[in-house]
Amino acid sequence: MKVGISDPIAQAGVEYLKNEGFEVVDLTSIPKEELVKYVGDLDALIVRSATKVRKDMIDAAKNLKVIGRAGVGLDNIDVEYAKSKGIKVLNTPGATSISVAELTIGLILAVMRKIAYADRETRAGNWPKKKCKGIEMYGKTLGIIGIGRIGKEVAKRAKAFGMKVLYYDVYRPDEATERELGVEYRDLDTLISESDVITLHIPLLPETKHLINAERIAKMKDGAIIINAARGGIVDEEALYEALKSGKLYGAALDVYENEPLKESKLFELDNVVLTPHIGAQAKEGQTRAGIEIAQKVAEALKS
Ligand code: NAD
Repeated sequence: MKVGISDPIAQAGVEYLKNEGFEVVDLTSIPKEELVKYVGDLDALIVRSATKVRKDMIDAAKNLKVIGRAGVGLDNIDVEYAKSKGIKVLNTPGATSISVAELTIGLILAVMRKIAYADRETRAGNWPKKKCKGIEMYGKTLGIIGIGRIGKEVAKRAKAFGMKVLYYDVYRPDEATERELGVEYRDLDTLISESDVITLHIPLLPETKHLINAERIAKMKDGAIIINAARGGIVDEEALYEALKSGKLYGAALDVYENEPLKESKLFELDNVVLTPHIGAQAKEGQTRAGIEIAQKVAEALKS
């Protein structure tokens, strides 16, 4: 059986498929707009986020039984249409949770200790020690919105820094899990008013679009910090800009945006915001885990 791979995955995943007896077709160098010509005889297609698996691709792939996404988001795959054709869509939701959680802690530190700003100034030949005076994580309250896979990993790491950790989630884990993580539940409004740092780890849904808006920011502590390494659109970027500019917020960090790639933004003017280009899952170990896991899942699905 033939497994096409159209976005690069970890070599260990490719080797796994070959060892299991599959013919692996490397499509990573085919221009995306031509890919549709190469999928006709594939039994499975493995992608990351770059390949768009839309109706035309699914219609062209007459033998396709499985679409594997090495990673979490399925925004690039027409899942419902694939399913209507009897094609399984698989992903690796947990493989990069630690990568995203570590980036989140990095972003919190970058904002609190002004690391990105200090780096820019030092490179420019400046030495603004006073302006680089920051604040510690120790003793502060972290509010985690969404205590799923990533939220839990963030909680564990924040505890190690001596933070008090609150969380809000529509689904509340059992008390034993809360105790083990050392986290306390708060309703959304209470979490927002009690937290020094608020970090988002929820999906983008109609009900979470602009969850962090001007009204909610106004209810935050003066000098609070917002971190979004979940999905663009959960934070209203216009409202965030205003609150950063006015000094209501101490700072913020975004890894995800309403429009990606982010080419222009008023946020670029501000020194108290750290911006990264959707790199939460971009860690070697996370990508290796995702590559191996998707290879295993696709192999299992093709053999069943
Ligand atoms: P998950 O499904 O394990 O956890 C999400 C949590 O959000 C769940 O506990 C769920 O109950 C909760 N939730 C859903 N709707 C909610 C709502 N309206 N209010 C409050 N809580 C709600 O997901 P995860 O793997 O932890 O991923 C979290 C987010 O991180 C997702 O948006 C995912 O797309 C994003 N992500 C970003 C990157 C990146 O590169 N920055 C990488 C991977 C994942």
